[in-house]
Amino acid sequence: MIDLRSDTVTRPDEGMRRAMAAAPVGDDVYGDDPSVNLLEREIAERAGKEAALFLPTGTQANLVALLTHCQRGEEYIAGQKAHNYLFEAGGAAVLGSIQPQPIDAAPDGTLPLDIVAAVIKADDVHFARTRLLSLENTHNGKVLPLEYLRQAWEFTRARKLALHIDGARIFNAAVALNVPLSALSQYCDTLTVCFSKGLGAPVGSALCGSAEYIQRARRWRKMVGGGMRQAGILAEGVRYALAHNVDRLREDHDNAAWMAQQLADLGVTILPPGAQTNMLFVSLPDEQAARLGPWMRERGVLLSAGPVTRLVTHINITRADLTRVVELWREFQESCAPSSSGAAQRALYG
Ligand SMILES: *Cc1c(COP(=O)(O)O)cnc(C)c1O
Repeated sequence: MIDLRSDTVTRPDEGMRRAMAAAPVGDDVYGDDPSVNLLEREIAERAGKEAALFLPTGTQANLVALLTHCQRGEEYIAGQKAHNYLFEAGGAAVLGSIQPQPIDAAPDGTLPLDIVAAVIKADDVHFARTRLLSLENTHNGKVLPLEYLRQAWEFTRARKLALHIDGARIFNAAVALNVPLSALSQYCDTLTVCFSKGLGAPVGSALCGSAEYIQRARRWRKMVGGGMRQAGILAEGVRYALAHNVDRLREDHDNAAWMAQQLADLGVTILPPGAQTNMLFVSLPDEQAARLGPWMRERGVLLSAGPVTRLVTHINITRADLTRVVELWREFQESCAPSSSGAAQRALYG
């Protein structure tokens, strides 16, 4: 199957499996796992932070980040479509009594700072205390501009808010801008990174921040059940991914841009800004949206089809796979032609 649903579907290759099999391990809850300790040092250093914590998922990393930043009755500002507001089952509210204050992101994926300023609560008994601004980079495949990150950093310093970056795909942003991770993470207090997406490791995320912050986060991780034991087997897969699979993200970005061009040539509507990283979104007429998913699946292609269809490139997708997808898309459009001329006829008769 050619699987374009997400970069979470990536599978470990032979080299990664060998590295995992050979991992020196210990009990990480005792701090004894050498591979986890090494990974935590490496990712902290790459992010330019004092310390890091290895967690099983990005969702748990974001949850632990929020629990460590905010007390009960405090709030964080995040995008309406931010993962840690919309897609984490309300964990911060359910488990931390932390209130989200969602706002709409701008078309470029940033949270406009004038709107952030307007929702920061005054110190008044009616309000939750605003503690944190949470940004997402990349957000739906969009790269937050470096200058915006710098402004958000200065803004949060001036307003005494902490700044968290959900950087599930931050390496895609770094590669797209051709800068090291630290060029982006210098503008945040804390950062989460997912290794199980485009980087191709089977499991794992990290939370990076100050030594004092990570020490407190470690207790929350234990509380929510994320204290793993011989987790070095996972950490070695991640270390392998960091050594081998970061720079190659460029190929995924090139592949996504190539597919965007090919589909545009077929008359498919590509939603702006197109493919900045490894994702593109296309808009389909309703009658096509309903048919495309099952039609492609029968022919060996998996995608999350809908009126807005997301296509994601990754390490297990080659240019030849995409050539096949474009060819199938052309056939699909031909198979739709009668119904679209029907639509044209209906339009003709009002
Ligand atoms: C995938 C993702 C996460 C967390 O994902 P897990 O599946 O829990 O590892 C967090 N934030 C963003 C933006 C994501 O895309």
